[in-house]
Amino acid sequence: MHEFSIGDSIVRSVIEELARLKTPPGALRSVRVAIGVMRQIVPDTLVFAYESLSQDTPAAGSKLVLRAVPVMARCTACGWQGALEVPLFLCGACQSGEIELMTGMELQLESLEVEDDGHAEH
Ligand SMILES: [Zn+2]
Repeated sequence: MHEFSIGDSIVRSVIEELARLKTPPGALRSVRVAIGVMRQIVPDTLVFAYESLSQDTPAAGSKLVLRAVPVMARCTACGWQGALEVPLFLCGACQSGEIELMTGMELQLESLEVEDDGHAEH
């Protein structure tokens, strides 16, 4: 299960981040992650994996929010840049296969939303 290994690495990064920010256990509300379309994950499965894997960790009870990043590429033959229609890896202008991916492989923690502790301190 591809989603479980990705879920595991997300949970581990989140735990590291919570430790770094000294966030009390249970205060994490949600985690926003950018994930490239090239990763070909099933979002519901990844959310389920995250929820299962984060149980009994300081991230327990938090929600995973995914942002899909489209595949953008550049053609080295004609200089075209644009979104790719996966799984067709051809230039959108000259149909050349000489393309370089610019985005679409992301797996990145974007933000953590932590419960407000009632103080106006931010
Ligand atoms: Zn081209």
